[in-house]
Amino acid sequence: MDPRASATPAALSPAAAELKPAAVTRWTAQLADPQCERDFRQYRLADDRRRAGILMVLVSAGSAFNFLIELNRYLEHGTDAVRLVPSFASIWVPLVVLYIVRRMTSPVSLEVLMVISGLVGGCSRLTLLTLQPPEIAMWPTMAVAMILIVYLYMPVRFVTSIVLTAALSVLAVSGWFTVAQGRVPTEVLARGFLWIVLANALGFIAANSLQRSLRIQFAQGLLLQNLLSTDSLTSIANRRRFDDELSREWRRCERAGMPLSLLMIDVDHFKAYNDHFGHVQGDEALRQVAKLLGAGAKRPGDLVARYGGEEFVCLLPGIGVGGASMVAGKLIDAVRHANIPHPRSPLGPRLTISVGSATAIDMSGDPLALVAYADKLLYAAKAGGRDQLIIGELTPPLVVAARAA
Ligand code: GH3
Ligand code: MG
Ligand code: MG
Repeated sequence: MDPRASATPAALSPAAAELKPAAVTRWTAQLADPQCERDFRQYRLADDRRRAGILMVLVSAGSAFNFLIELNRYLEHGTDAVRLVPSFASIWVPLVVLYIVRRMTSPVSLEVLMVISGLVGGCSRLTLLTLQPPEIAMWPTMAVAMILIVYLYMPVRFVTSIVLTAALSVLAVSGWFTVAQGRVPTEVLARGFLWIVLANALGFIAANSLQRSLRIQFAQGLLLQNLLSTDSLTSIANRRRFDDELSREWRRCERAGMPLSLLMIDVDHFKAYNDHFGHVQGDEALRQVAKLLGAGAKRPGDLVARYGGEEFVCLLPGIGVGGASMVAGKLIDAVRHANIPHPRSPLGPRLTISVGSATAIDMSGDPLALVAYADKLLYAAKAGGRDQLIIGELTPPLVVAARAA
């Protein structure tokens, strides 16, 4: 087996179908699923911006050092003052790029900016070396440093770093042969060429494994999040995810001044179903019910989750009493029409559900009050004969005037 295969998230869990889109492609070191790749780049944006910023500060500091050397030459040897201009400018250009980087919100524009800065910065730095004859020998060293920086530190995708280093290498090699030919021995020329080739090979290998591991780490995080929030029996959201969403939606609806409805759903006489068909068939019935509920409440923002045992919840943000009772009615009908046989049910030959539908208009209290109220309505539906819906609106908690102690 390919040892890399065991490192991909796809091999970490039996939920392979869920993970396949997250696999990292071999030659481009990108997540196979384009949406997943976009999410990854957005997730990396803050760190990429920080890295781009550090890079620009370092380039500016290096240029400042270079400027001081040029200034010293000018003062001591009276070199041409015009030579000070490019080295002075290269202190400020990276700082302007830094200013732009700090305001960037898109990974694509950050990458474009990095490519332009890499090409312009690389070419101008190499050209500056030709101004001072003794520094021509530095040309390959500078090219190697740039290639390694692009591969190992510049916040661009692996594919982009290959293209950028290829362009810089072609420019560096052709420039090196042009400016150094006749001025340095042929073996020094050849050694410089070899260093540039080696830097490319090394950078390619290191960047590939670096970028692969960043993406695998991200995909593993997604997998963990997925496993932690999914119910293993029914594959819908689990209780943990519901608890998180409830408090999030409670706050969101409070801010937006929208109602929040919660359906508490329980399968009727399910113990009798299990007793008749056995637990394996019972599990299958729960999967079927979960699927029907999920299909019935699929507006963006709606959440159907398994609350526990044969109980489900359906969170409906922005839906008032009327809308919630419509959705609940649809869910009851969907289960009825699925005609899942239940010979031991006193209510009829098929499996049914009961629903308590609670709506909160005022969110000044605790979201758990909504759960408790929906639960109360569900038990009223049970007491009222099952296979039915009871609706209610959560009244705001009474504010009791407190006397200062
Ligand atoms: P009611 O109409 O009052 O809700 O009656 P009920 O029989 O559905 O309720 P009760 O609480 O008496 O029994 C719930 C049953 O649900 C008992 C339990 O075996 C079954 N159950 C809970 N979780 C699972 C599960 O994961 N798989 C299976 N097969 N059965 C489950
Ligand atoms: Mg129950
Ligand atoms: Mg039940």
